[in-house]
Amino acid sequence: MSRLSETFQLGSLTISALSDGAPDRALGGFFHGIEPAEWMRALGITSPDSPVPFNFGSFLVRGDGHTTLIDTGNGVRGKTMGVPGGGELLRRIAELGVRREDVDRVLHTHLHGDHCGWDIDDELDGAVTFPSAQVFVHEKELEYWTGAASDGNQQAAYTRTRVLPLRVADRIRTFAGEFAVSDIATMVPTPGHTPGHCSVMLISQGQHLLIIVGDAAHHPVHFEHHDWIPGVDLDPAESQRSRAKLAALAADTGALVTGGHFPILTLGRVRRVDMGYRFESV
Ligand SMILES: [Zn+2]
Repeated sequence: MSRLSETFQLGSLTISALSDGAPDRALGGFFHGIEPAEWMRALGITSPDSPVPFNFGSFLVRGDGHTTLIDTGNGVRGKTMGVPGGGELLRRIAELGVRREDVDRVLHTHLHGDHCGWDIDDELDGAVTFPSAQVFVHEKELEYWTGAASDGNQQAAYTRTRVLPLRVADRIRTFAGEFAVSDIATMVPTPGHTPGHCSVMLISQGQHLLIIVGDAAHHPVHFEHHDWIPGVDLDPAESQRSRAKLAALAADTGALVTGGHFPILTLGRVRRVDMGYRFESV
């Protein structure tokens, strides 16, 4: 099982990796069409059904005069999943001495239900969970999940219960292309998993970089094998290009990388090697 909370420094920023559920689970669905022996070797397991540590993760960023939450987990429904820490994101935040009204920015990598669940608090009559927060999401992502294009997507119903009340409350801020939310946070489009999927680049003191890759990588091995396609990716060719873009960006900038589905705490760097890229834990 991965941990439920871990805090670290990035220059002058204090970053907390927080879980809304940390199951051990089989990951075969994230390596579509790949010979099981190949990805099992990369994961260090001997059966495709072997559970490995997984996480439904968010990141809380403090230290720049703001309290920024990146993705918001499964929400109340996570409590019925029967996994360690399931649906406990608000408890994890409270343990840091942060109140929900302190959160003034929510950044969304994308709007799958395991990333926007706590935008709404179903235990508070469907109220907006973070009453002071502006919620940043790529315009293509909002358009997809609120438009006819996602009518056949089985995740759309839940996502709409999160997003539509936020829209009514005028909480959502959209953007197109690469977008600097602030001095420390830039949304970097990495589509494919979903139409407006973004990664978040954090920078402190001009030199400390961290890329939070959202679901462009469900496991660090995706930094090395860009064509190992998660079955849930809406546009596999596009998601493969986004993984290549992220690997190059991480290698060129020397940034730390992490992802919401990596076990807490996973931090690494991506290095160019002869045949491609290598992920190295730090
Ligand atoms: Zn996800």
